[in-house]
Order: sequence, then structure tokens, then C-alpha cells
Amino acid sequence: MDYKQLVIDSGMEMFRRKLTVSTWGNISIREPETGYIYITPSGMDYETCTRDDILVYDKDGNLVEGYRKPSIEKNMHIWMHQARPDVGAVMHTHPIYSTIFAVLNWDVPAVTEEFAQIIGKKVRCAEYFLPGTDELARAAVKALSDSMAVLCVNHGTVCVGRDIQHVFNVSTVLEKACQVYYMAKCIGEPKIIADKDVEDMMVFAATLYGQPKK
Ligand SMILES: [Zn+2]
Repeated sequence: MDYKQLVIDSGMEMFRRKLTVSTWGNISIREPETGYIYITPSGMDYETCTRDDILVYDKDGNLVEGYRKPSIEKNMHIWMHQARPDVGAVMHTHPIYSTIFAVLNWDVPAVTEEFAQIIGKKVRCAEYFLPGTDELARAAVKALSDSMAVLCVNHGTVCVGRDIQHVFNVSTVLEKACQVYYMAKCIGEPKIIADKDVEDMMVFAATLYGQPKK
């Protein structure tokens, strides 16, 4: 697997899905065999990024390869990979509806069945700190806990998953849930899915949904 190219392709996909604008947003993907973390450079257009622009770090955060300045959220990515061995990719985005809740400093509860299945009971807001700081990185890891996503206040989202495709699912489902929750709140009081039902749906999604595994 060409992880450098996968990071570049994922950056363009993030842009195409309108999960961010311009050069904002960043991605890291962990190579299972080596534990190396491939991460986007700071402030570069994904359309013009080449494989040489991607940085590679080991699991302890030491630079293995690359000469560019890394994403300012590099430590957030590396610390999330360290805290969550089940996670193979991390994506930080600035999508509109998720950011509305980040601006309000509101946690997002399970309001749609797909959110319940793929994300869980809620997405928490991390304590506010300036972008790119170690304080924000620590707060985001803490608020992520065992969840699949976290909101950075006045800023955007960080979503995690077992691989980058999974992260795109989490990010898209979170953005849609935020849009639905926002619109529902405009005309009434949304019903939140009970914790027990969320637990049942998570088990269903993990074991019974889709075609049988061969
Ligand atoms: Zn950002």
C-alpha cells in the first residue's frame, strides 16, 4: 500500500466532499506493519502535493522521512494514534454544520440511527485552546476518549476510524447529523436516541449489518 499517495488522495477527497475549504484540514494514516504515521504538510494545496511533501513519523513522534513543515496539528494526530491503537487514521476538518456546534460549544447527541451505529452516544467538545497548540492536542485526545470524533471549539472536528474510509464515513455521518439536528431544532425539540438503543444499534452495526462476511 502506498500510504503517501493515500494521504494525498484522501486530502483531495476531503476537499471534494466539502469537509474543509482551501488548504485547511489535515490527515494522518498509520501503517499497521511499521506503526509509521503518514501526515499532511502544513498549508499546502492537496491538488499540487506530491509524495515527497508527505511527512512520516514513528509511533513516538520522531521524524522518519520528509522535509516539509508538518501540519500544525501534528501532535494531536500522533497522540491520538498513541492513545487509540484501534485507530488507523485521523482526519481534522472544518465542515459547516459540525462547526456550528463547535461554535456553540455544544456536545452533539445521537439523533440519527447512522450516528448511533457508527459514532455512538455523543460527540464531545474539547476544552478551548488555540489551534496547533499542545494544550488543544491534549484536550482533544481527552475529549475523544473512546469515541469516534471530537469537536474543537470555534474550529472544527477531528474524526478517527480503523482506516481512512471508515474516517470518511464518521466525518460524513457526523456532518449530516449536525445538519439534521440544527434543522430539527429550528422547528421543534429533537428526540435524542436513548443510550440503551444506541448500544443495541452499535452491536447491530458491528455484527449483523450488511452482507455475511466470507
Ligand atoms: Zn483546523
